[in-house]
Amino acid sequence: MKHILSALCLLTASFWSQLYNAQNTDAYIEVLGVAQDGGFPHMGCNKEGCNLAWEHPELRRNVSSLALVDPVQKKWWLFDATPDIRQQLHDFSQRHKEYPYLPEGVFITHAHIGHYTGLMEFGKEVINTKQLKVYVLPKLKSFLENNGPWSQLVSLKNIEIIPLTADQEVSIGNSLTVKAFTVPHRDEYSETAGFRMLTPKKRFLFIPDIDKWSKWNKSIIEEVKNVDFAFLDATFYDQNEMGNRPVSEVPHPLITETEDLFQKEPAAVKKKIHFIHFNHSNRILWDKAIQGKVRDKGFNIAEEGRQY
Ligand SMILES: [Zn+2]
Ligand SMILES: [Zn+2]
Repeated sequence: MKHILSALCLLTASFWSQLYNAQNTDAYIEVLGVAQDGGFPHMGCNKEGCNLAWEHPELRRNVSSLALVDPVQKKWWLFDATPDIRQQLHDFSQRHKEYPYLPEGVFITHAHIGHYTGLMEFGKEVINTKQLKVYVLPKLKSFLENNGPWSQLVSLKNIEIIPLTADQEVSIGNSLTVKAFTVPHRDEYSETAGFRMLTPKKRFLFIPDIDKWSKWNKSIIEEVKNVDFAFLDATFYDQNEMGNRPVSEVPHPLITETEDLFQKEPAAVKKKIHFIHFNHSNRILWDKAIQGKVRDKGFNIAEEGRQY
């Protein structure tokens, strides 16, 4: 019963925001996934949360990804190509029959599996796209061009790589711009980007992966103040989830750390934060008490299918 009620609440909230956006010509963000790279439930996981999600498909979550949707151009852009891209594009197309099935372009944060491997579905084995624009920073560009199977997408012109320069805006039409910036993260194959998307009415920030806010050369507090919605790395909830590992060794900001950092900020700043990129161990995925605690402190939790 509880599940049905919460599903109904989610449906109602999503219904009203979708109705509002349907009548409106303002560009908006739609969340296509909220989980960490391995999704929820996780392969091989038989712990509490995963077991619930194996049993109850409505609890399952796709890997974190956003769509920027422009009702004026009738185009949309994908932020991160995840292993769940097949489901995510299908779900998006069902909700937006008046839009093209494929995005106008794809922006990629970095070369960890949850963020770019969905590109493989664009190849000739599957949908065989023609010069689909893929926006990436320089190291990721070179990684895709020089390593299979990605290099085949380039040589067969399934994708056309559009190089981004960090901290420079690119225009995608109708006064919409996207700016990539770099953040500290495990950069084995590529640098790691975050994105700032500007529309005439709203400003968005997307940082699904970062080591620690303190390792960044920018102030996350100032960055959040300068946008209306910030979708931020919330891979882990708190120290308890980490067992005996010292927090300093955990290469993500814990939700409780981000909450503490923003503790003294006004409610209007805190509510801009929408936590995303949840590891399968993060109780925020299934524990209503934890979800309530986060919301009571004035923060938001990104919801799949919801528009912002
Ligand atoms: Zn990730
Ligand atoms: Zn990563």
